Amino acid sequence: MQQGTISVQTENIFPIIKKFLYSDHEIFLRELVSNAVDACQKVKTLSALGEISASTDHLKVSVSVNKETKTITISDNGIGMTAEEVDKYINQIAFSGAEEFVSKYKDAQIIGHFGLGFYSAFMVSSKVEIITKSHRKDSTAVHWECDGTTNYTLKEIEKANPGTEIILHIAEDSEEFLDDYRIEGILTKYCKFMPVSIQFGTKTNWEDDPSGEKDENDHVKKIEVQVENIINNPNPAWTKKPIDLKEEDYSNFYHELYPSTFDEPLFNIHINVDYPFNLTGILYFPKLKNNFEIQKNKVQLYCNQVFITDEVKNILPEFLTLLHGVVDSPDIPLNVSRSYLQEDANVKKISSHITKKVGDKLASMFNGDRPDFQEKWPDIGVFIQYGILTDEKFAEKAPSFTLYETSEGQFYTLEELKEKISALQTDKKGETVVLYAQNKEEQHSFIDSARSKGYEVIVLDGPLASHFINHIEGKNQGIRFKRVDADVVDKLIEKDDALPNKLSEEQQNAIRPVLESIVDSKKYNIQFESLSVDEAPFIVTQNEFMRRMKEQSAMGGGGFYGSLPDSYNLVANANHPLMEKLLEANESSKEKAKQAIDLALLAKGLLKGEDLTKFIKRSFESI
Ligand code: ADP
Repeated sequence: MQQGTISVQTENIFPIIKKFLYSDHEIFLRELVSNAVDACQKVKTLSALGEISASTDHLKVSVSVNKETKTITISDNGIGMTAEEVDKYINQIAFSGAEEFVSKYKDAQIIGHFGLGFYSAFMVSSKVEIITKSHRKDSTAVHWECDGTTNYTLKEIEKANPGTEIILHIAEDSEEFLDDYRIEGILTKYCKFMPVSIQFGTKTNWEDDPSGEKDENDHVKKIEVQVENIINNPNPAWTKKPIDLKEEDYSNFYHELYPSTFDEPLFNIHINVDYPFNLTGILYFPKLKNNFEIQKNKVQLYCNQVFITDEVKNILPEFLTLLHGVVDSPDIPLNVSRSYLQEDANVKKISSHITKKVGDKLASMFNGDRPDFQEKWPDIGVFIQYGILTDEKFAEKAPSFTLYETSEGQFYTLEELKEKISALQTDKKGETVVLYAQNKEEQHSFIDSARSKGYEVIVLDGPLASHFINHIEGKNQGIRFKRVDADVVDKLIEKDDALPNKLSEEQQNAIRPVLESIVDSKKYNIQFESLSVDEAPFIVTQNEFMRRMKEQSAMGGGGFYGSLPDSYNLVANANHPLMEKLLEANESSKEKAKQAIDLALLAKGLLKGEDLTKFIKRSFESI
């Protein structure tokens, strides 16, 4: 028997390993199972090279929990280790690797805490045993044991078959891991797509009775059979070639990835790159609707089929984190802290590759089947807007497939829209004015007025509308967006041919106090406009600039504009016959004005509470 001391610089590495990011102790299982999977893969490689002669048919990793002995065992029939290899790989390399890892990263937040390796076993164990026998000819099995100090023992032992058993004696403070459900949960999280079968316990299957006996309905009787419970799919869809997959396979994989989701994704992108970096994966476009729902299904990051994390911020561009699916790359450095990741050259290349793929896919869908793309637009529009706002590369590509939907349900690109509206909707400065509504219902009367002039109104109702509009205006000279209620319809597109104003300055000053006695002049800025006689006597509008600033600061959490009260314009139509009556300033004309103003407020959705009740009463009485 050999007794030894692991050579250490940091005397106290075990306590540090133990404390290492308390909440993530569960990763010990990922590390040990992936070592076991690697050991099985090595059998395949070495027997292909003719270095060992072993069957590669039944390579398997098994995990078991024994509550009596308080142990967890991870066994594999992989390559195994000789005594020399245990000494080299476990006592020296693995240990110094873990030591280096811990001393370097004990304060950093590492992606998925990758790289702690075999010694992560000591996060949950008071003692660890390895029983291993190498596949190489004439190997004797060895037994290694270490109790969490730097002392170990190594001795020969009998073991029938090649492979490795790792026995963890679970420490008192980690007994939560002696629970079958907990272990199965951890295995499902990290090992669900590892490339070698992983077995945990057994499960019940119902199979045809081999005797062929039939039941009363003449069906072959079923019998209960205990079979191995394999927790993983060693060949997940993303590792296959796109040409070998059907639409159905993509859908099945989506549900395999997110078993509790019943929605179908809209479409997917299969990524398959092996040069100049390694990247595979399948991204799915979910139905995003108009609000960013709290994301339940996240993009999962894998490294050679080992689950790392679903916190992919800093790794993927932010807008892509709205997607679902899997990204697998061994080229993302996992043992650096999160903050370094964004600066990493590989991560940058991978990110921009994915962004490009997403852009290409959207462009090809748009060009390939526009009606279908339009149908999907309500579900992907907000994603595209978000991408345009947050990713320059994507924003360069996006205009060719970014659509604007009109109030009549037609879809145009910005180029097409400009073409369509420029004759009617160009103002005296030569700017094309794009009219939009944010809420088709609430802004109905304004949309209707604009439509009656022959104007197109587009509907931009997502949470990003004002930011998006600002962006588009910034990128496109000569285009201005105006919400349909930003002005009275005659002024929406400012032209030179204003109607003559029937009211003199003096007359306006006479009417103003009457109006001020009806509405709060702090909230409503009263102005006279010369509109057509058939227009309403009063219209309530909302200044575009102020409204947009307020909306944007509300999204950003307040700010200067956010603290300002809402302000509106009460526009009086100077050419309406009611104005002449108001000059007489008698009770009856004032009542008429009150009714007309209430109607204007109603059209803007501003008549509420007591004012609304009074209005309804008054209106009933006049029936
Ligand atoms: P890494 O896996 O990153 O190399 P580890 O500390 O996890 O680091 O493991 C150290 C080494 O120990 C492995 O590289 C491998 O050579 C050996 N090893 C660990 N587990 C097994 C196993 N189950 N079967 C065979 N060899 C193993």
